[in-house]
Amino acid sequence: MAVERTLSIIKPDATARNQTGAVNALIEKTGLRIIAQKRVRWSKAQAEKFYEVHKARPFYSDLVGFMTSGPIVVQVLEGENAIQVYRDVMGATDPAKAAPGTIRRELAESIERNSVHGSDSAANAAIEIALNFKPEEIVG
Ligand code: ADP
Ligand code: MG
Repeated sequence: MAVERTLSIIKPDATARNQTGAVNALIEKTGLRIIAQKRVRWSKAQAEKFYEVHKARPFYSDLVGFMTSGPIVVQVLEGENAIQVYRDVMGATDPAKAAPGTIRRELAESIERNSVHGSDSAANAAIEIALNFKPEEIVG
């Protein structure tokens, strides 16, 4: 296994319900380190670019609207196998199908308002981190 970095986002439904700390507690329990973190609000253009891969999906414009509806917390997580470790603790996209103990099962509201994002591959993690952080903002 290798030490990896992944991009995490705490989505507007979670920041609105004061769940930033609850999400971070579940992240840190896995052993992953939060090596960068900032609270921001995305513009429509930033959200459209981030979710470009979903452009053709029926939920795309709703998703862009949701992700720009309030503050988000963008993070870089680091650790052994970080991409898969974080996907595992996030749980399935639909909170109703997510396993007990996962962030989405314990904290999320719906398939859209599902509290967190995590990169799905090493290539996408690198792209997503570069879109959201300057190198000097990441302190590993
Ligand atoms: P994941 O976040 O688990 O990687 P996807 O990449 O498939 O899931 O989808 C990106 C985001 O789009 C989801 O996290 C969720 O917020 C939203 N989404 C996915 N599927 C749906 C859907 N069927 N209806 C509404 N929103 C959805
Ligand atoms: Mg995804």
